[in-house]
Amino acid sequence: MAADVFTLNGRETPFTPGQTILEAAGAAGVRIPTLCHLEGTLPTGACRICVVEVEGARTLLAACTTPAAAGMQVHTESPRVVAARKTILELLLASGNHNCAAVAGDGARWTDFQLRVAQTEKTADLCPAWGDCRLQELAFQYQVHAGTYAPPDAGPDLEDVNPMIVRDLSRCILCGRCVKACNEVQVNKAISFGYRGSRTRIVAAGDRPLIESDCVFCGECVQACPVGALVERKAGYAWRPWKAERIRTTCPYCGVGCQQWLHVQDGKIVKVTGVEEAAPNRGRLCVKGRFGYDFIYSPDRLRTPLIREGEDFREASWDEALDLVAERLKAVIAAHGPDAVAGVSCARSINEDSYQMQKLFRAAIGTNNIDHCART
Ligand code: SF4
Ligand code: SF4
Ligand code: SF4
Repeated sequence: MAADVFTLNGRETPFTPGQTILEAAGAAGVRIPTLCHLEGTLPTGACRICVVEVEGARTLLAACTTPAAAGMQVHTESPRVVAARKTILELLLASGNHNCAAVAGDGARWTDFQLRVAQTEKTADLCPAWGDCRLQELAFQYQVHAGTYAPPDAGPDLEDVNPMIVRDLSRCILCGRCVKACNEVQVNKAISFGYRGSRTRIVAAGDRPLIESDCVFCGECVQACPVGALVERKAGYAWRPWKAERIRTTCPYCGVGCQQWLHVQDGKIVKVTGVEEAAPNRGRLCVKGRFGYDFIYSPDRLRTPLIREGEDFREASWDEALDLVAERLKAVIAAHGPDAVAGVSCARSINEDSYQMQKLFRAAIGTNNIDHCART
């Protein structure tokens, strides 16, 4: 229909009324860069990196907040747009300790700025987000280096007291994705923008550490942060995307079945993220699913069935343990009937296992004494 078509980079492109230019372009396979945009939340147009040129408009417009309209002529990579994006990137790089993109003249030496940041952070690594940072990726894409504008004089703005998350607000670009992730996606409402003007920063509980706020350490804000301002404590500088492999799995904790990526480096899980494009969680995880994987490597973990003998347990094979359970169940049922036994299934089991358990008790044993342990 003519009313639902606009021109995108010279090509007639259909759109659904109500779609933004960003959404319509995405549906047509045209990628417009974003930093503050978070799928499924209200757009703010805060970072301006998605600006596009609309013929007849006085200024460049943010594609994430501008609705597509019939007859509109939009250019997503015109010289004006590219120049604006370069300036935005230079300003963002100069807004904090973005030392990875600050290169000395010949690209081989560290700049004074990089040296100062590395010294204050007490590491020879440039940034924990190196290789997994949207700002860095866009700086490379648009060939932008730090240094056009003077970098800040301040050192790291580190909050290192939280159990799961390290915050370094000296690398925060104030995109607001963490606030949206916390308030609109997880609805935990633990963090918000605080202060005003150049003092603006992300705050929790009146600018106190996350541990002293309503934060439940779900880590949604970490997954949403496009730069190195929010980092998983355990992954920190250790995880590097080019060294790790990503393995998809189902969370082992409860029956919801959240989809996870395990980031495995040197044979060990170093971090866990939610799978954005998959149901049921669409990228979200709770504190257990995201951070509670250390038990895998615990030396206290049970690795074989144990059979009690008096006050002690001894290790047994699965065959021996299962035979013993079957024998004891049969003996009790023979003596007192099927209602003398009961089954408790683990709530961490998958639905299929719980189904089999109730089938065993109802159909094979003949009792309705079946329940599950609610503790997850
Ligand atoms: S946050 Fe991103 S742009 Fe800034 S120093 Fe780290 S990797 Fe570089
Ligand atoms: S960890 Fe979860 S609750 Fe805490 S600030 Fe981040 S999104 Fe909010
Ligand atoms: S902490 Fe990260 S997600 Fe939050 S505003 Fe800063 S850069 Fe954006």
